[in-house]
Amino acid sequence: MINIFSVMIHTLLPRYCYGCEDVLVEAEEVICLDCLLELNKTHNLHETESELTKKVSFSFNVENAVSFIYFDSDSIARKLIHRFKYEEDIIIGKYLTRLFCQELKQKDWIKDIDYIIPLPLHWLKKVKRGYNQSEIISNIIGKEFDIKVKTNYLKRIKYTQSQTKKSREKRWDNVKGIFRVINQDKLKNKHILLVDDIVTTGSSIYSCINELSKVEGIKISVLTLASTN
Ligand SMILES: [Zn+2]
Repeated sequence: MINIFSVMIHTLLPRYCYGCEDVLVEAEEVICLDCLLELNKTHNLHETESELTKKVSFSFNVENAVSFIYFDSDSIARKLIHRFKYEEDIIIGKYLTRLFCQELKQKDWIKDIDYIIPLPLHWLKKVKRGYNQSEIISNIIGKEFDIKVKTNYLKRIKYTQSQTKKSREKRWDNVKGIFRVINQDKLKNKHILLVDDIVTTGSSIYSCINELSKVEGIKISVLTLASTN
C-alpha cells in the first residue's frame, strides 16, 4: 500500500532536480543521480596537507582545511551553491553537507573539535538574505557530530559589498579587520572549526583566522562546502 501511495504522490506531485531540473525518481533526493555523479569532489579530506590548507595558512598554520566539491565554471556545483546562497534553496546546502558528513566520519580529527564557528555575516546582510548559509552548514555538522555551534564568539563588525567582482588585492583590503572575537576566554586552548559555504581567494576566511589566532592556545580547522580549483 505504501509503495502505491508513494508512486501516486510522485506522479501527482513530481519533484525536480535542483541541478538539471529533470523529474526526480523516488530514490533520488534534491538532485538526480546524473548531477550527483557530475559533482567534482576535491578529495582533499584525504590529503595530509591540502591546497586549501596552504591557501588559508599565511601567518598561522591551520590544523586541517577541507572542502567537499570544486566550484568549476558552468558546473552543476556552481549552480547548486548559487541557489543555496542567493535563492533561498536551503535544502541544497543541507543535502550537500549531509553528503560531506558521510566522508567526514572517516576522519578522527573531527572528534577533536570543541566548537564550530560559522563565518559571520554582517547583521544587515543576514536580515536582507534571511539566513546565514554558513550557519546552516554548521548546524548540520554540529548535529551529526554532536559539536556545539557558536554564533556569538566571532562578529563581523563591518558591512562589505560583494567580493565576487573584486581583484585579489581589493578583496583583501575589503576584509582586513572586519571580524572581531567577542569572548577570547571561552576560546582559549580550544580547537575550533571555522565553516563557510565557499572559498575563492580565501581572503574572508583568512581575515577570520587572523583575528581568531590572537586567542591563546587556539587550534583552527577550516571547512567549506565548495572551493575554486
Ligand atoms: Zn539533475
